[in-house]
Amino acid sequence: MEEVLNYIDGKWIAPQAVDFVDVVNPGTGELLTRTPLCGKADVDRAAAAASNALPAWRSTPAQDRIQFLFKLKALLEANLDEIARVITMECGKTFDESRGEMRRAIENVEVACGIPMMMKGEIFEDIAQGVDEILLRQPVGVCATIAPFNFPGMIPFWYLPYALACGNTYIIKPSEKVPLTMQIIFRLIDQIGLPEGVVNLVNGSKTAVDAILDHPTIRAITFVGSTATARYIYRRAAENGKRVQAQGGAKNPAVILPDADMDAAIRIIADSAFGCAGQRCLASSLAITIGEAHNTFLEGICESALNRKVGYGLDEGVQMGPVINLDSRKRIEELIDLGIKQGADPLVDGRDTLIQGYENGTYIRPTILSDLQPHHEIARTEIFGPVLGLIHLSSLDEAIRLINNGAYGNQASLFTSSGAAARRFRYSVEAGNIGINIGVAAPMAFFPFSGWKDSFFGDLHGQGADAVHFFTQEKVVVERWPKEWVRKF
Ligand code: NAD
Repeated sequence: MEEVLNYIDGKWIAPQAVDFVDVVNPGTGELLTRTPLCGKADVDRAAAAASNALPAWRSTPAQDRIQFLFKLKALLEANLDEIARVITMECGKTFDESRGEMRRAIENVEVACGIPMMMKGEIFEDIAQGVDEILLRQPVGVCATIAPFNFPGMIPFWYLPYALACGNTYIIKPSEKVPLTMQIIFRLIDQIGLPEGVVNLVNGSKTAVDAILDHPTIRAITFVGSTATARYIYRRAAENGKRVQAQGGAKNPAVILPDADMDAAIRIIADSAFGCAGQRCLASSLAITIGEAHNTFLEGICESALNRKVGYGLDEGVQMGPVINLDSRKRIEELIDLGIKQGADPLVDGRDTLIQGYENGTYIRPTILSDLQPHHEIARTEIFGPVLGLIHLSSLDEAIRLINNGAYGNQASLFTSSGAAARRFRYSVEAGNIGINIGVAAPMAFFPFSGWKDSFFGDLHGQGADAVHFFTQEKVVVERWPKEWVRKF
């Protein structure tokens, strides 16, 4: 069984933790490893290493800093399949989904390689005669990321490459449910020759997070996870005077108008709802059919749900893997029970799934709950499993009202062939990511990964220019050099 270590000051280090949590392959039920639940001592050590590395790293020219990212990109490419295998084993998604996740991670490394262009300051000469004003972007200092379980390879890369390229030093705390992906990625990071302490890895859960949130040396924190934790992280980090951004949970609606290409809408929404077993923050979990779109959509989506091949993510042809663990399966099944109790019709019921040969896996087949009403709890709560609720309404305006009354604002999608309807939707809907005939509106790395309302706490997001602004602080210099002084030279 592979031991989970911390990586601090350029070395693999046994954690000082005394408590551990089991990491189980959700597809097979096999025990993979145990995550050490690190505390203050390990975080202190990582913060000290990152702090010591900071002066030399921030004064390394950006052009030299990005050379390490080019090396990392090459290693990630060369080891993509091996990393994807580990993601599938500990997280459950299919091998193709894991590969796709790592492609997105690499895309962020590529964009961060353009930092010299993005980090440039500004100068305005002669704001008064002989007086110039200069804006500099300087690194923030020691930064940290606290990551969720569902994209163990990609999400740290929304931040890490930008933070490093901008001259910050770094600490990553992966989810205790999926520690092995970062173990393999840090083995690659170890090969690129970064100065010691520039990037560090600490494992654990709440105790490690609290130590990060309270550590005086750590200046900025990015978080991705559930809304309850995001709220907590945002509040505590801000109280401690840190720069913080916290992405939270979601309940993403997909609206289907009667003029949509129905075959495409069914295929795309099924992929969104059931891909990664519904454990994507951009997964469509509520389909809102308008007018006569209802019957055709209902028939097609049920067929698609029934035909989806569920199984172990490393097996050929599997389209959907398990959910992350037993607790999660229990929670999802309880929410389905509740939905049915409140009046939902389980047109396709994925509870009590057993996959032959993988009886210890935590599988739930795709589930479709029809006849939801907007006030039903299951229409408003994040389920984070392969469950699609259906609501039937009579107009786009009603759908927009329903969406904007929801607590979350991560993603909303519309399926239509009408430009006017699409324009109205994207203009009016309160969500940070909008899909028009798209089911997973995941922005490319040169756009921010947005989120509104209870899906995001903060201002600047991860990825692209937002990340550059988050990981730099602006300094404005006003200089006086009157003509008579300059003339002397
Ligand atoms: P989670 O909130 O349980 O855990 C996320 C991280 O926070 C982990 O590293 C965990 O160790 C830590 N943590 C958990 N409880 C904590 C506590 N009480 N105090 C301090 N730290 C704590 O989330 P998860 O189950 O790992 O991930 C799934 C959630 O993440 C879903 O809600 C999903 O929508 C959300 N998510 C959001 C986005 C986005 O961009 N908005 C992206 C991916 C996932």
